[in-house]
Amino acid sequence: MKKIILTGDRPTGKLHIGHYVGSLKSRLMLQEQGDYDDFFIMIADAQALTDNADNPQKIRSNILNVALDYLAVGIDPNKVHIFIQSEISELTELSFYYANLVTVSRLQRNPTVKTEIKTRDFKESIPVGFFTYPISQASDITAFKANIVPVGDDQLPMIEQTREIVKTFNRIYGDVLVLPKEVLPENEACLRLPGIDGNAKMSKSLNNCIYLNDSYEQLKSKVMSMYTDPLHLKVEDKGHIEGNTVFTYLDAFSTPDDFKKYYPEFANLDELKKAYQQGGIGDVKIKKFLLQILDNLLKPIRERRSYYEKHIDEVYNILKEGTMYAHSIAKITLKEVKDAMKLNYFEDEKLINEYIDEH
Ligand code: ATP
Ligand code: MG
Repeated sequence: MKKIILTGDRPTGKLHIGHYVGSLKSRLMLQEQGDYDDFFIMIADAQALTDNADNPQKIRSNILNVALDYLAVGIDPNKVHIFIQSEISELTELSFYYANLVTVSRLQRNPTVKTEIKTRDFKESIPVGFFTYPISQASDITAFKANIVPVGDDQLPMIEQTREIVKTFNRIYGDVLVLPKEVLPENEACLRLPGIDGNAKMSKSLNNCIYLNDSYEQLKSKVMSMYTDPLHLKVEDKGHIEGNTVFTYLDAFSTPDDFKKYYPEFANLDELKKAYQQGGIGDVKIKKFLLQILDNLLKPIRERRSYYEKHIDEVYNILKEGTMYAHSIAKITLKEVKDAMKLNYFEDEKLINEYIDEH
């Protein structure tokens, strides 16, 4: 069986370190392993419009930002096709047919959509496009016959929904679509990285992000303002780890090597946690440690980004070529889907012969 990887991001802002641990890191790993037949990364502009219909310029201005972020973290355009969703009209057509295979109540049960409706404060005015975006995500995945989808855990309900659509489609129309499977980060803290304000998810829409292209100064001021333990007022106070965002980030980002280099008093995170819980370690100290670690991660990313910012025409061409290739694949799948659904009237004269046979 072919191994095809697809994943993507909404161009609603620059990418942040939640994206990095949740999905970009798995993409880089898969890219380096090289054990795949095709690898697609989609900039989901059409999906981003489902809750930003009144602000198309926001989506447009973030296309190149997101592409720059990909290249900055080390996505290699020679190994991966980066493409723009709205350029591939076949995806919309697939959604139209898949919508027949999904019920309204099934969409209403989707926990991620439920949470997102709340955070966006839609109340009774949920755009139909937003409500049905899990269907469009099924089109994105199946159009490329992707079976490997590296995502953060908020995307699990979407993969589940896609699997249901694939099964229903194949049962009714024949075996055309491929069942996808998610690739989740192994480290639990990376499944859904909280925001610097302690909110359950770092998210562009919640304004609680450390961006991949934050300068050292921006990074420093964000780390220093991070939510820790409200009961840990004096250095001597016993500290709490649970819900302490700095420790969640240390869980997600620190390695024993970081301890050797920047915090040799402790051999590893478990030891630091124990000491913090006993009291005697100030929040500033652990924040400075985290700052070192994050700056180390972001430095090469900033440098690569700065190269591509100066060669923006290269980025533009990468997107153009990736989109052309993705388009050629989606066309083939749509044709197979329509054939299976008996939607190919003018292809040959079979329709006439069928009519004659029936009469
Ligand atoms: P928006 O608020 O516009 O939805 P977002 O920050 O949620 O933006 P998306 O573009 O929706 O970002 O998500 C892209 C990918 O990044 C998905 O695979 C998602 O699971 C992952 N991801 C996003 N935020 C986090 C996070 N805080 N922790 C881990 N993974 C995340
Ligand atoms: Mg999101």
